[in-house]
Amino acid sequence: MTRQFAVVGNPIEHSRSPELHHAFAKATGIDLHYSKRLAPLDGFASNVQEFFSQGGIGLNVTVPFKEQAYQLCDVLTPRAQVARAVNTLWQQDGKLHGDNTDGQGLVDAINALGWPLQQAKILILGAGGATRGVILPLAQAGAGQIVIANRTLSRAQQLIADVQPFINTAHLSAIILDHLSGQFDLIINATSASLSGEALQLPPALQFQYAYEMAYGKPSSFLDQATERGVPTSDGFSMLVGQAIEAFAIWNGVKLALSDFLSLK
Ligand code: NDP
Repeated sequence: MTRQFAVVGNPIEHSRSPELHHAFAKATGIDLHYSKRLAPLDGFASNVQEFFSQGGIGLNVTVPFKEQAYQLCDVLTPRAQVARAVNTLWQQDGKLHGDNTDGQGLVDAINALGWPLQQAKILILGAGGATRGVILPLAQAGAGQIVIANRTLSRAQQLIADVQPFINTAHLSAIILDHLSGQFDLIINATSASLSGEALQLPPALQFQYAYEMAYGKPSSFLDQATERGVPTSDGFSMLVGQAIEAFAIWNGVKLALSDFLSLK
């Protein structure tokens, strides 16, 4: 019988998840159908319930419902607990399980690029949901130091206070975005500046070896500046593919190689 999957969000038309999961199905020979579900802003929980009551196997969750999905779950993985957001749902023994695969998606993307994470000194710009989702997987991948720079310093400080109890390997610290300096192995733009068409200024005193922009399909002043410096760069499409591959692995028990699917861009 065809296994049913879907992504729920609002809006949802733009989602590339069906295309990705159908490509994974083709590669593995798994018989599945993956659809898009538009939930009303006040109708997320009933949409989830309807999906699983109709025999759905796995559901991805996107903007603006990831925090609601986290609240709805009976069982959460540690990385979903740290993220306080869930993008992957499934049912097991009558319980709703939730995970957050965004961070592992980023780690797999960075590994596929061949950029080093072991003992890496990483600077993350932004302290929103995306940053919260990637800190634990980056630490688990061996990062030695993670500095979070945010326009609103208190938000970065609060985020570190929240995640610190889960992380004992990487050193975490917060700085204000205006005062960027120092040398980093990797810089990650997890602000939503590129989405809203705003520029980010990287001061000359800030040095880095690799630059990753979480947004994709948008002009990015962050990537432009990194490219001008001759630094290897990537946009967030590989992270999108990575989070989908990780969700597919949870649901179907097969972990695919990210590099095989980057050409879908
Ligand atoms: P949030 O709205 O939760 O957080 C936005 C962050 O960006 C805040 O820290 C905010 O700072 C900062 N910010 C916004 N505008 C500016 C600006 N002009 N200058 C400096 N800082 C700014 O967003 P998310 O964390 O959910 O998403 C962040 C990015 O990650 C988006 O581009 C999103 O598309 C991308 N993303 C990509 C994924 C992928 O699979 N590739 C998955 C998830 C997210 P402040 O706190 O001061 O307001």
